[in-house]
Amino acid sequence: MPKSYLWRPHAANGHSHVAPALSPQRRARHNADMRDSSPITLPGGDWPQLLPGWVWLCGAGPGDPGLVTLHALNALRQADIVVYDALVEPRILDWAPQAKHIYAGKRGGKPSAKQRDISLHLVDLARAGGRVLRLKGGDPFVFGRGGEEAQTLVQHGIPIRIIPGISAGIGGLAYAGIPVTHRDVNQSVTFVTGHDQSGEAPQSLDWAAISRGSQVIVIYMGMKHAHQIATALIGAGRSHSEPVAVVTAATTPDQRVLETTLGTLVADIEAANLAPPAIICVGRSVLMRQALDWQSMAQGHAPRDTDPLGRGPLTNIA
Ligand code: SAH
Repeated sequence: MPKSYLWRPHAANGHSHVAPALSPQRRARHNADMRDSSPITLPGGDWPQLLPGWVWLCGAGPGDPGLVTLHALNALRQADIVVYDALVEPRILDWAPQAKHIYAGKRGGKPSAKQRDISLHLVDLARAGGRVLRLKGGDPFVFGRGGEEAQTLVQHGIPIRIIPGISAGIGGLAYAGIPVTHRDVNQSVTFVTGHDQSGEAPQSLDWAAISRGSQVIVIYMGMKHAHQIATALIGAGRSHSEPVAVVTAATTPDQRVLETTLGTLVADIEAANLAPPAIICVGRSVLMRQALDWQSMAQGHAPRDTDPLGRGPLTNIA
């Protein structure tokens, strides 16, 4: 067993499994690598121009600056105002040193700017002739209210461009070694939000239908209501022993991964003292991490099990 793993005995399922964040030494090296101040050059080509009076809504990815797209980089270099969210990794803002940086964070349960105010602020900045970059964590159209902001801009006659980003529910899981689809496990995947506009567990979701229809369920903003969500899924027929992963601060040096089960999810989140932002993934694809935990393998650890789903040698796969 790799030394860096912490196994926590648990009455119900025998164990849960928490992979820790990077050690201080590795974190320092990671940050030093990322802080290379040499200018990043875009490949040659006809990159779009961010013109005065425009707003570009752009995804910054889940954290690791290396997951920023070239279109995002092109935007960062031209903007004179960057309006960014709580989940945007600060080092990405360093790539727009010429711009004014305006924080418009919204974090569940904390006092934060109102969505309408943010949208109207973007309108004002554009009308004042700014080259405005609206930078959001992950993908701007995935649980990020990017659609609402874009709609307000359009309603006020502001020209926009949308730059997609890598969403935490896909890229964050990939960094944990969990394929969001895997042929032996799922033909569909459902992305759900763990709380609705009022901050409550979403009442409108038909958990029974989600449970029946999707082998893999990826939950954003699910930490606060993990208990209700796990109870609803078990009530809808999912097994207590179904594998679940919780990935916090995915793709950053602080990334932590908890492997547990639906029945022990809440107790294990508490025992491991995990905090948002987190992606919760429910389904057997979580088991693939035993083979595909590439971050641990990069540190020299052997995979725990190269065939966690019991599929047999890959040569058998048509
Ligand atoms: N637009 C974003 C999601 C915004 S909603 C995207 O596409 O990823 C905010 C939620 O996203 C968080 O509560 C958390 O559930 C998830 N999230 C965003 N970044 C994350 C990260 N680095 N690690 C884990 N979860 C993250």
